[in-house]
Amino acid sequence: MRLSLVVPCFNEAEVIAKFHQALSRELTATGRPYEIVYVDDGSADETLDALVELAATDESVRYLSFSRNFGKESAMLAGLRYASGDAVVIMDADLQHPPELVGRMLEHYERGFDQVIARRTRVGDPATRTLFARTYYWLINRWADVELMDGVGDFRLLSRRAVDGLLELGEYNRFSKGLFAWIGFESILFEYENVKQTDRKSRWTFRRLLEYGLDGLLSFNNKPLRLAIYVGGVLTAIAAAYAVWVIAVAALNGVKMPGYVTLIAAITGLGGLQMVMLGVIGEYIGRIYYETKQRPHYLLKQTNMDPADRLDKTP
Ligand code: UDP
Ligand code: MG
Repeated sequence: MRLSLVVPCFNEAEVIAKFHQALSRELTATGRPYEIVYVDDGSADETLDALVELAATDESVRYLSFSRNFGKESAMLAGLRYASGDAVVIMDADLQHPPELVGRMLEHYERGFDQVIARRTRVGDPATRTLFARTYYWLINRWADVELMDGVGDFRLLSRRAVDGLLELGEYNRFSKGLFAWIGFESILFEYENVKQTDRKSRWTFRRLLEYGLDGLLSFNNKPLRLAIYVGGVLTAIAAAYAVWVIAVAALNGVKMPGYVTLIAAITGLGGLQMVMLGVIGEYIGRIYYETKQRPHYLLKQTNMDPADRLDKTP
């Protein structure tokens, strides 16, 4: 059995050597053949040089380098396309995903699991963020077609057939958390203690979290559109009832002019609602727009692999 590791790297020059050392030690201890596929996601620092250097001294090192920063989702996709192992572990380069856990993942894999998922505890997270996350997952699991879990990220082991499944999903807008859940297969979850980001600020600002949250909601269902229909229906019913009442009052008492407040409230309220619904429709159309362009997820600048070694056949 051969193991592949996929490691997206964006400006990780400072930690990459340390990470590689720690990971190699762990992998050697498992006694299995392995390869490490580093994906340099258009780093602005010396990450690529560091990878070239690693590859020169360690023959298990493969690397891919992008022409610019395409984002972690694209980097993971590239890594999965070139990883040739019977099982693939995806992990971060910044040592937030402890290499010691790879051995444990392998044990689960050997017991027949297709996805071995590491789930981080939220120890040390700000309380507001934890609350926000809890609420979000509670909400999304009521809405989305796939089940998403709090604390679960990209750190996981995937069997060959799980990877092949992921590679069949050719969408441009890749919301990995949802894709992992979408493919299914036997999965097992284990917890590890949160490792705090020390060297720099997390890229997860509140705004990015919000955008990521919306992405999750919109990538996996059309329920927001359904909601528009329901809300529209309810409002129509209310409007009809109100109209009956207004007409009845007018028939009995004649028309007096007041009603200014009701009018303004109705106009602004409905105006706002219509903008929101338009926004929802716009979001979906925007997604269709990007999907139909069929652009590649990334462009390669440099690699020590043969581009023909890519395993999947999607464009
Ligand atoms: N990463 C990437 N491309 C990006 C941003 C991040 O490949 O555009 C990599 C990064 O090098 C790291 C992993 O994705 O290995 C997680 O990134 P980061 O530590 O910034 O995110 P966080 O830990 O806050 O989730
Ligand atoms: Mg990190």
